[in-house]
Amino acid sequence: MAADLLDVHGLLFKRQQYKEADLLAKLWTKELGIVTVIAKGGMRPKSQLAAAVLPFTEGTFGILTRYKGISQLRTYKKLSQHDELFTDLDKNAYLSYLFDLADHAFSEYQKLGEYYDLLLVAFDRIVAGQDPEIITQIVQLQLLAAFGVAPQLGACVICGKEKGIFDYSIAAGGVVCSDHFRSVSRLHLSPKATALIRTLGLLPISRLGEIQIGEDLKKESRRAITQIYQATVDLNLPSLRFLNEVRGS
Ligand SMILES: [Zn+2]
Repeated sequence: MAADLLDVHGLLFKRQQYKEADLLAKLWTKELGIVTVIAKGGMRPKSQLAAAVLPFTEGTFGILTRYKGISQLRTYKKLSQHDELFTDLDKNAYLSYLFDLADHAFSEYQKLGEYYDLLLVAFDRIVAGQDPEIITQIVQLQLLAAFGVAPQLGACVICGKEKGIFDYSIAAGGVVCSDHFRSVSRLHLSPKATALIRTLGLLPISRLGEIQIGEDLKKESRRAITQIYQATVDLNLPSLRFLNEVRGS
């Protein structure tokens, strides 16, 4: 297949040195999904590409691609950078984890669909200072569908009831209403934590307003999401261990 030179829009979320002066970077793109690019000479201070290959650079990247394997980064335009992320360990740890998680949900060059915006809106919100814990839980819950294990959150898995008191059942793959607490094994969450998980899992992220959620409640829903991931996706990401160190849990 001939290689095409094309412009892709998105965000550079990971990079590593390759050989002496080259860089490999991963882009989260609207057009092609996740793409690994090589920036030849990108490690050299005077490289034309040096500015484009900083972590969390957003913009338009001109790449030479065969729609498989490693593409080549050639040019860039309209970049925006977030220098504050280099010194803000908290934001950095959350964002690195979220993109690492998303990186595992898709193959390279697989279309991202709605998830393209999910991650970019999450990125903008965290950069802007909105509660990174809540944003992270939204992305975690909504990415479960991309991993092929979408939970049923809108209604009781057993009877379809939408309102009432709920708990979460990993075995049943979603929420169960209090009429069916005896029918399945469940996490024994507080009704508030289950309600929070339902909201975060179903809410379009762009519609998230300013919300105040207590620390204890956030920790409870975080523990539940950790359990759901361990039981259904089972990744062991160093970026999550790092995030846990940073947030002290
Ligand atoms: Zn029910």
